[in-house]
Amino acid sequence: MQRDNVFDLIGVGFGPSNLALAVRLAEEPGASGIGQCFIERQPEFGWHRGMLLDDCRMQISFLKDLVTLRDPKSRFTFINYLFERGRLPDFVNLKSFYPTRLEFHDYLSWVAQAFDEKVHYGETVLGIEPVAAADRSSQINALRVFSRDEAGREWQRVTRALSVGIGGSARIPEAFAALGPHNIIHTSNYLTSIDRVVGQPQSGPRKRIAVIGAGQSAAEVFIDLTRRYPGVDVSLVMRSGALKPADDSPFVNEIFSPAYTDIVYAQAKDVRRSLIDGFRDTNYAVVDRVLIEQIYEMLYLQNVGVEQRHRLLANTAIETAVRSSNGQIELTLRNRLDGHACAERFDALVLATGYGRATHLGLLDGLAPYLGDALAQGNVGRDYRLSTPANFKPRIYLQGCCEDSHGLSDTLLSVLALRSDEITSSLMQEVKQEIKQEAAGGPMPDQLKRAVEGGRLASAL
Ligand SMILES: Cc1cc2nc3c(=O)[nH]c(=O)nc-3n(C[C@H](O)[C@H](O)[C@H](O)COP(=O)(O)OP(=O)(O)OC[C@H]3O[C@@H](n4cnc5c(N)ncnc54)[C@H](O)[C@@H]3O)c2cc1C
Repeated sequence: MQRDNVFDLIGVGFGPSNLALAVRLAEEPGASGIGQCFIERQPEFGWHRGMLLDDCRMQISFLKDLVTLRDPKSRFTFINYLFERGRLPDFVNLKSFYPTRLEFHDYLSWVAQAFDEKVHYGETVLGIEPVAAADRSSQINALRVFSRDEAGREWQRVTRALSVGIGGSARIPEAFAALGPHNIIHTSNYLTSIDRVVGQPQSGPRKRIAVIGAGQSAAEVFIDLTRRYPGVDVSLVMRSGALKPADDSPFVNEIFSPAYTDIVYAQAKDVRRSLIDGFRDTNYAVVDRVLIEQIYEMLYLQNVGVEQRHRLLANTAIETAVRSSNGQIELTLRNRLDGHACAERFDALVLATGYGRATHLGLLDGLAPYLGDALAQGNVGRDYRLSTPANFKPRIYLQGCCEDSHGLSDTLLSVLALRSDEITSSLMQEVKQEIKQEAAGGPMPDQLKRAVEGGRLASAL
């Protein structure tokens, strides 16, 4: 077991959320003394590598990069990345706000490189516990973060604040999980697994693959399989009646503006819910219109010919999934409109079934007895800080799991520049407060308290 320093902040996960935070802290002059590190389970920086398909595009403008909406003069803008890579004039000629995901991945990796010495790659955080709490009523000042690296070594680090940015976890419906993993892949592993699943092009019967889902990833995988694998017949199976376009019209898009977070957060729980539900078709189970048109055309052209290899099975519920003796997967498919059911066998399934957003609950489980209802209830401040009992001093910031309280942009890139700013301000306030208190050797003076409450801490110091 390795022991390490005591930190002011540990970031769990080093995806875009904590990367944006690392950038913001680096650009905050007052934060130079903040001891920080990030722990990332991948061996190097990677943004959804399993779905980095060649020609897939970003679904938001490049101007919503890690920094521009906060500080367009930052050296970490997408434009500066293009400039340093020598592609700025050519990019301008593209006349597009939507780079490919491959290029955005390269941008994010370029930013991440600047923080290499702060990141422990290839380490998975396993759990978090309070530091030496004698009993549940005594004050807790710090957290111990447990992790394991790829060589199996275990690490412990102590911190006074935590930023959880671990993204979502692949959602695998129980009916498929029960079949075991052989030839059943989630889109999060698509590129790393599909060649193995499809195998060598052969002269024998073609492989039958079912893609399950009706969202962007389902559509991207469907097109990719039909284009890159001539030996595969693909069925896109979905409960809904049609592939529906994502609403990215300008008034609707305002819900992804940073200011909209204030609007959502200010509402009562049930109103937040209905706001989020009302705009679900901006992000969930919807597909870029261009991609829908490509799929439609591909299926149309197939009808012009004689060979019907690829299908879109809309209004189709999967009633049972069974592993047959030869390793294939038999699905019972029922048409939801006419009730007709049939059994079909597939060599493999690609599950485009989305992501769960509750992984942080497992990660923070060791703290649950000390947090009261906060964790279970999702009680999070506007500054993304988990509300904790008065005797629980460590600050826990949650990124990407606050959709219920902060709105649909929480799981996306849209608010990263501003969210990292809000978390940094909150963190700096608290750190300065602690330093001041420690220096005074006693409780916070009234003047400082008022300054903190009035949001004027910087000028009070
Ligand atoms: C295929 C795909 C395309 C997308 N395209 C867009 C888009 O165009 N626009 C947009 O706005 N959003 C898009 N999204 C949404 C996506 O959530 C965000 O782009 C972004 O990835 C969120 O960043 P994050 O850091 O919160 O989470 P993630 O990017 O998921 O990063 C979390 C990181 O935490 C690490 N981690 C997890 N658990 C642990 C642990 N226990 N210990 C250590 N490390 C851990 C993971 O390895 C990962 O690197 C897309 C999502 C997918 C799946």
